[in-house]
This record gives sequence, structure tokens and C-alpha cells, in this order.
Amino acid sequence: MLSVTGLRKVYGRVPALDGVDLDVPTGTLTAVLGPSGCGKTTLLRCVAGFERVDAGAITLAGRHVAGVPAHRRRVAVVPQEGALFPHLSVAGNVGYGLNRAERGSGRVEEVLALVGLDGYGARMPHQLSGGQQQRVAVARALAPRPPLVLLDEPFSALDAALRTELRRDVRQALRADGATAVLVTHDQAEALSIADQVAVMNGGRIEQSGPPTTVYQEPASPWVAGFVGEAVLLPGTTHGAMVETALGRLPLRDPATDRVQRNTTVLVRPEQIDLRTEGYGVVATVVRHDFHGHDALVALRLADGTEVTARVNSEAGALSVGQLVGVAVRGAARAFDTTSPGADGHPSHTTPGLAGQR
Ligand code: ADP
Ligand code: MG
Repeated sequence: MLSVTGLRKVYGRVPALDGVDLDVPTGTLTAVLGPSGCGKTTLLRCVAGFERVDAGAITLAGRHVAGVPAHRRRVAVVPQEGALFPHLSVAGNVGYGLNRAERGSGRVEEVLALVGLDGYGARMPHQLSGGQQQRVAVARALAPRPPLVLLDEPFSALDAALRTELRRDVRQALRADGATAVLVTHDQAEALSIADQVAVMNGGRIEQSGPPTTVYQEPASPWVAGFVGEAVLLPGTTHGAMVETALGRLPLRDPATDRVQRNTTVLVRPEQIDLRTEGYGVVATVVRHDFHGHDALVALRLADGTEVTARVNSEAGALSVGQLVGVAVRGAARAFDTTSPGADGHPSHTTPGLAGQR
């Protein structure tokens, strides 16, 4: 439905978009995931037709949209908040983009039901909670059956519990209506949980796109690995299908396609690191313990001084700082060619999941 190739947009001398390629299949939800300032909003504004692009092409339903004004692209946009007309009722807001016949056809009621607001048509926006207002904004976007719905961090102004519920419901509404949508977010949990495809964006480019499991399990670069979840990155030396690291000799996830060299950067996820008693695997010292309710992250220092993070279930919370433990890795490691773009060169310690800090 949407295809973006080589898209560039420069503000002054700073490229906000530096060659973006993105394909969004009909009827699917793509999450564009990236840190603040990486160009997510600019990308949406270019696709919607609010910005002139400096280079590259955008096709919508197979047609080039260069020179097509925003209103003729019919792309719907759901902003972060404050999207509703305050003086119009819920039904008035949802029916705003519809003609008389469409308004009479029951479409307004249909999309309100899809977002869980059956019977709310007569309410005014100020009589709704923040979450309900975002539901109305989604219903209004869906109402005219646009070829594409763009959502710009639509849940970020809401508190955590509400956000989880709303993103589930909105995804279901988009699915039920057969909509094609692009949602941008800086929240990796949000992207992984709702999207059919995740496009990871950094510095005005898409570094990787693919199904959520692929992006998490087979990140294209150490940067992607660290942004999409927690990553333990270690220097390693490959020997055929194995790699030697401070965590021991580990099997490589995909020795054939990992473009490995002898010296490489190795990724394991904290949930792959098993903690037992001393005498098992390699020895490590507990340096920190962060309890998260459902699990805990334990920072460990290995004999050579490298720090790594293990995810343990909360019953293992009896660990104390300074304690010696035995550590081993379950499953396979991923190796990065350290000369590939995105490899930062220096053998890093644990990169905390950035999304968790926001
Ligand atoms: P994101 O939505 O990922 O946080 P944006 O697309 O808003 O990022 O911004 C990308 C970059 O472009 C940033 O460096 C931002 O400062 C810059 N930028 C965005 N809009 C403008 C503008 N209208 N004028 C100048 N610079 C802008
Ligand atoms: Mg933005």
C-alpha cells in the first residue's frame, strides 16, 4: 500500500531523513521504532503530504504522490493528543470527513463500536478521559476508509496501564477494519507487541525492518540489538561455528549467514544468562540487582572486568551484592561483523534497553 524509497528531507543543513526505505503491505500494521529526534514525525509528515521532500519517492496504492496535495492523498493522521474539535460532539468529530450519505450509513456508529465507544456519540470531548479521546481520534481516522492511517506516538501521553489496554484495542480495531497503518513510537515494548512489522529507525534511516521476532532475535547491528531490548555485547573470537567470549565458548546462532570474522562483537540477551551457584560455568560477582516485579536484572562482573546483565525470575531475588555466582549462557549467540555499519567499534558492556529509561 505504501512504498518509500530513498526519502530525504533536510532542514537547513541537517538531514532529518537521510535515505529512508520502507514498504508497508496492505492490511498490516508497521511500527517505526526509534529514539527521539531520529526523524519519525518527519517521515509521517512527508507521507501525509504536509512536507515537501528533497529526494526520493513515495508511492501510495501504486501511484506516485509527488506533487499530490495532502487532502488528495486521503491519508489519515492520529497525532499524540489534542486531535479532536472541542466544539463538536464525538459523532460530529468522527463524521467530520464523511459526506451526508456516509454519515447516514451507520459508519460513525460502526467505527465507534470498533474502538469500544458504542453509544458515546452524543458526548463532548471534554466529557471523555484522555484514553477515550484517543479512541475517538482513531475512529475518526478510520471513518472515511483511508488508504493509510498514520499514528504518531498516539499513546505516549497516557499512563502505562491505560496504554497497554489502548494499544491492544486500537490494533484490534485496525485489524477488524482491514486498515493499513504506520505507527511511530520510541517504545520498544509497544512496537514489538502490536506490529506485524517493526522498522527500526536511527539518525534518519531505517536500520532494519522485519517481523518483531526477527528484529529481536536477529538484529542487524549492535545498535539495533541495544535499542530493541536489553543487549549484552561482548568481544569474541570465532572458531568455526563457535565463539570464544568472557562468558565461555558459545555456539553461533547462524554461522553461515552471520558475516563473522575472527574478532567479532557477540550478542546474547539477558534472559539467556543462567545464574547458579559458584562452580557452574564461569565465575562472576553480583554488582547490582534491579527488581522489576515479574523478573529482575542482575548486573554481574566477570573475572576480566566485563560487566554483563542477567534476567532472572523474581524468586532468585535472594542474591546479594558482592556474592560470587556461576554463570552460563543458554542457546546460541549472534556475532556481528565489527566493520559493518552500526557496530560501534569498542567492545561494550551491557547496553541498557533505551526504551525503559523513557
Ligand atoms: P522524531 O519524531 O523521531 O522525534 P522529528 O522527525 O520530529 O523526530 O525530527 C527529526 C529531526 O529534524 C530533529 O533533529 C529535529 O530537530 C529536526 N526537525 C524536525 N522538524 C523540523 C523543522 N520544522 N525545522 C527544523 N528542524 C526540524
Ligand atoms: Mg516525533
